[in-house]
Amino acid sequence: YAAKAGATRVSVYRPEDSGATHRRLVLAGDLPRAIEHHRFEVWFQPQAESDTGRVTSAEALLRWDHPEFGFVPPPEIISIAERTGTIRALTDAVISDALHQRATWAAAGHLLDIAVNITPADLRDADLPAAVARMLAETGTPPAALTLEITESGVMTDPERCLAVLDALAALGVRLSVDDFGTGYSSLAYLERLPVNEVKIDRSFVQRLELSEHDATVIRATVALAHDLGLHVVAEGIETRVGWERVATLGCEQIQGYHLARPMPGSKTLEWLAADTGERAHERAAAAHL
Ligand code: C2E
Ligand code: MG
Ligand code: MG
Ligand code: MG
Repeated sequence: YAAKAGATRVSVYRPEDSGATHRRLVLAGDLPRAIEHHRFEVWFQPQAESDTGRVTSAEALLRWDHPEFGFVPPPEIISIAERTGTIRALTDAVISDALHQRATWAAAGHLLDIAVNITPADLRDADLPAAVARMLAETGTPPAALTLEITESGVMTDPERCLAVLDALAALGVRLSVDDFGTGYSSLAYLERLPVNEVKIDRSFVQRLELSEHDATVIRATVALAHDLGLHVVAEGIETRVGWERVATLGCEQIQGYHLARPMPGSKTLEWLAADTGERAHERAAAAHL
């Protein structure tokens, strides 16, 4: 495309295009300052053991309430951050927030692990492991209490280049998880070579299983493969009790999803954890028990 920025705007004739262009320009302009001034939030979604219902960890999820557009979907924020060269600053801010939040919960008697999503762009930065080590030390977090999630397609686009950084992260003792598993072109050979501890089965497979117990092929195969490689399996997007029961039966060790809890701010998470004793946890355990 040869048009200059000004000419492009004049040639726009579809209203939805001009809206999208406006949105892209505004968001790309605002994101660096939003990161710099910390005008975003990190929310958390609890994760539980599938057989006991015990809450063991929480995934950090980015939230940005933009003054003009309101809620901006995290994948859109991430893609803008990648294009504007701010992704590493954003990732560090999310990791730091999440680890501080974990320390706050721990001080209140709730010891949880933390999962944070990272992108291929993060893994192309050789400084990431040192930054992670510094944030772990600053917050007094044991490395194994932090899991970094990288999407399957993310790892597979550039496995050679990511491998050195993944190895350095693994050497720190940080756990690594392959997110959205089953949606990419997973290569068994690579999965074996990557220093990962966990796979997270994509929500789409879980949702199919929730509709029909016969739709278990992908999950069953994934669990078999993962367990063969000594990996832990998490099922994401559990929206129903029957979905929870089915993934537990298929051998997924952990579950996450709206049926357990929706993502919520850190302070709300602490209230939720404090209320999550006795009956609620017991009822979940009974529901999950097979
Ligand atoms: P993800 O890592 O697979 O995270 C799970 C997404 O599914 C979250 O969406 C969560 O809110 C949603 N979810 C959880 N349980 C359920 C459920 O039972 N049903 C349904 N329908 N959805 C459920 P969210 O927060 O919109 O994030 C979307 C994606 O954006 C994430 O997918 C992750 O890939 C990315 N993302 C979010 N926060 C960050 C971040 O801080 N850094 C990076 N690099 N990526 C992030
Ligand atoms: Mg994730
Ligand atoms: Mg996921
Ligand atoms: Mg997903």
